[in-house]
Amino acid sequence: MPELPEVETIKRGLENSLKNQTVLSVKCHRDTLRQVIPRRIESDLTHAKMINFARRGKYILIGLNNQQTILFHLGMSGKIIISPEIINSTIQKHEHMTLITQEGQRLSYIDPRRFGVIDLYPSAQIHPLLRRMGPEPLGDNAYQQTLIIHLQKYLANKKQPIKLTLLDQHIISGLGNIYVCEALFLAGISPLRESKTLKHSEIIKIVKRIQEILTQAIEAGGSSIRDYVHSDGKKGYFQMQWKVYGKEHDLCINCLTKGKKIGIKRITQGGRSSFYCDNCQK
Ligand SMILES: [Zn+2]
Repeated sequence: MPELPEVETIKRGLENSLKNQTVLSVKCHRDTLRQVIPRRIESDLTHAKMINFARRGKYILIGLNNQQTILFHLGMSGKIIISPEIINSTIQKHEHMTLITQEGQRLSYIDPRRFGVIDLYPSAQIHPLLRRMGPEPLGDNAYQQTLIIHLQKYLANKKQPIKLTLLDQHIISGLGNIYVCEALFLAGISPLRESKTLKHSEIIKIVKRIQEILTQAIEAGGSSIRDYVHSDGKKGYFQMQWKVYGKEHDLCINCLTKGKKIGIKRITQGGRSSFYCDNCQK
């Protein structure tokens, strides 16, 4: 599943390739993904200029000069590929939408498992899928303080394990399983900890580690934008070196520096795997 850094990288790639370009034609090759694709997309997008590119959580938003916004979500397996438009080029397997610009670029939305979303809505409104989303995890220093206060307020009465709280998109948006596992490891906090037991200093650590790891991943992605939106899309995740995610039975690198051989554990929380070290994450 594309996570926030991948989505941010795709957004930047689209902006670099398509900003201020005008839509020549749009063709949807099916009616429904996770929800219905509005038919009017084909007519409403034609002749519109793509002027504003944004990300909210894992949604990509493209603002048009006709006061409408396109919303994309990549679901479990979606990708967006930009290529030069070749006349009469064939539709790729699982390509559900093709957008061609007057400047000769082609945007292909491809999603084999079809859990993604393509929608169009008035720019002056907030899309229903975005209305109940928590704040973004990334921002400047002043924003970091705001986020810490926000989290402290929400964690204060929550019994649920911190791992599940951080995955709750109503509390903080855009965090997926991999980044939460890694951030908790770096912060030395067990995924099993009751949210309300976290001290102020621990919340600060979590927020900082989340921001560091997302920023690193976006920077790693910056150099692979071309792989992400300009090729056949075979490359999936950035080549980030995970410390606990997917490392069940590997030795904890943190404990190893202290001469202890402790294996990474895998447990299931909320139907998803959590990887952690029960020696150094408390
Ligand atoms: Zn450890």
